[in-house]
Amino acid sequence: MYHYIRELIESKYPKIKALNTTEFIYQIEYISKNYQFLTLEDVRSAIKGDKCFENGVVLTFDDGYADHYNNVFPILNKLGIQGWFFPPVNAVTTDAILDVNKIHFILASIPEGEDLINLLLETTNHLHKNKDLESYLLNFWKDFNFYDAYDRKEVTFFKHVLQNYLDEDLRIEIVDYLFSRFVDEDIKTFSSNLYMNIDQLIEMNDSGMVIGGHGAKHIWLGKSSENEQIDEITKTRKFLEKINDDEDFVMCYPYGSYNDFTLHECNKQGFDLGLTTIDGVFDPCTGYPLTIERKDTNCFPKTKQI
Ligand SMILES: [Zn+2]
Repeated sequence: MYHYIRELIESKYPKIKALNTTEFIYQIEYISKNYQFLTLEDVRSAIKGDKCFENGVVLTFDDGYADHYNNVFPILNKLGIQGWFFPPVNAVTTDAILDVNKIHFILASIPEGEDLINLLLETTNHLHKNKDLESYLLNFWKDFNFYDAYDRKEVTFFKHVLQNYLDEDLRIEIVDYLFSRFVDEDIKTFSSNLYMNIDQLIEMNDSGMVIGGHGAKHIWLGKSSENEQIDEITKTRKFLEKINDDEDFVMCYPYGSYNDFTLHECNKQGFDLGLTTIDGVFDPCTGYPLTIERKDTNCFPKTKQI
């Protein structure tokens, strides 16, 4: 499971949580030596029981970043490796920046040593003087015990509050306020630099890459109403139909979030494979194809192996 892949040295946002392109190349060398790259066709035939693969691996890239077209696609194309790419519809088709990405760039731009909990409280107070909201946040922080292997607890809390925990209107207001305070870039230009466009996706699809679904607005499907989920999944399918004429598609649940209804609706709309963020290895004989586990890039070496 990959996200940002770019050269961080001398970049404008060196603190963004990205894998350096050189680290990616070393990782591909390592994976090539120890695993065999599978295609979508291979995975489907393994699930059907038609074929068996030892140490099969698939590289997946979430969120539709231009990094994937600029830095990943040329490498995979040259090596004849099929990558699976999952762009959210709105990232590609609108001038907006997804909240999830605004939060990444806010975190990468906040000066070192800034107290994130204090910043959240100060910002909510500045926007809405509301004692209840302040104690609600403080209580959430006091009881917060969500563990993330790759982030400090304050960072995980900051992300949770702004991605999911507060009401949508308030979350958007705070994120927009912090984005203009700390990042201060033109949204339209930033968006077109951050994400791939439809022509690039079509080019990648035509070169043998897999373009799958990652929702429209990039929301937590497992926490959304049935109607919202139907809307998200329908928009995702219609978007993919513009890229190729496949009958079956792959879904990658944003934030890895799904519930029984998500699986039912994805299945109904022609998604035969679904990728989660559950850490693990998928067994095509015993696993359920709509809840495929993945391993994070951080689980594999990123330096030259001797
Ligand atoms: Zn995502």
